[in-house]
Amino acid sequence: MKTPLIDIRRLTRDYAGGGLFARPSLTRALDDLTMTVEAGTIHGIVGESGCGKSTLARILMALDRPTSGDVILDGASLFDLSPKELMRKRRDFQMVFQDPFGSLDPRQRVARIVAEPLHVLDEKPSRAAKRERVMAMLEAVGLNAAQAERYPHEFSGGQRQRIAIARALITEPKLVVADEAVSALDLSVQAQVLNLITRLKRERGVTFLFITHNLAVVDAVADQVGVMYRGRLVESGPARAVFERPLHPYTRVLADAEPSVTKFGRPPARPAPPAAALAAPLTHGPPGQGCAFLPRCPLAGPRCAAEAPVLRQVLPGRQTACHHAEQMLCAPA
Ligand code: ADP
Repeated sequence: MKTPLIDIRRLTRDYAGGGLFARPSLTRALDDLTMTVEAGTIHGIVGESGCGKSTLARILMALDRPTSGDVILDGASLFDLSPKELMRKRRDFQMVFQDPFGSLDPRQRVARIVAEPLHVLDEKPSRAAKRERVMAMLEAVGLNAAQAERYPHEFSGGQRQRIAIARALITEPKLVVADEAVSALDLSVQAQVLNLITRLKRERGVTFLFITHNLAVVDAVADQVGVMYRGRLVESGPARAVFERPLHPYTRVLADAEPSVTKFGRPPARPAPPAAALAAPLTHGPPGQGCAFLPRCPLAGPRCAAEAPVLRQVLPGRQTACHHAEQMLCAPA
């Protein structure tokens, strides 16, 4: 079997809360999360706000450390690396954020912004080589040489996101983590940036971990998808198959609540979701012994209260953490 580019093993991240006057509390942002990402794919991660997506992104970028668990990146544990080794590894994994304006230094010209990550390279390119590389990268993301001397405020939102992508790709990374990278863009600009990402995967073999609350976006670009609920992975598989026939009631609720999943050429999936499933609050309490989705689940039964479902293979390439997956499989699509 091929070695995955990222191998996430039983990742848990607890945040301590409370304070001087409030009772101490613990938020489990990631809960025993295990998944792999294959090289050369676009892997979507979806889930509502607060389910742990950004925590996962920060840990993968080594900007935060897990409470327990490990991340094996290209064969090496991310958390065993010395600061120097980590610095060297930085060229292999980059990040694109939601707000391109906030993440681009307004006082720097585009050429300098895009060149910035090159300082992590062992072999320091000459000024001329650096410039050549920046120009080639700008062209690759659909910008031109004349734009290299401009400042970020002179660009539209979509162009700024292209600049952010050029900066992320300049070190020729193996992995780009895109956290809500197109969420702030208009639909038509979103489609252009998504096309660019798909092309970069195809032509340069870059692996993208595409993190978003927007199912339509993942539906449009992702090869594989992982669905997160309260820090856990509850479903994973090929994106198209997962959205067409969810095997977890939560995925179904998400897909049904997102009519724009059909915007990219799919027929409408199913009638509206059960209102109760959406109305129940999304709260973080201590992890109980039963299924975390139980209070919102239309299929909940006694077993769900007694035993937390583990992620298991239900169909080839399809995994889900639901006791009722077989029932979902038999239900009309
Ligand atoms: P998402 O990106 O899916 O919106 P996050 O990863 O930002 O979710 O957050 C997951 C949970 O962890 C949330 O309940 C959030 O409040 C909590 N959390 C995230 N970062 C911190 C932090 N630095 N301190 C305390 N709690 C945090």
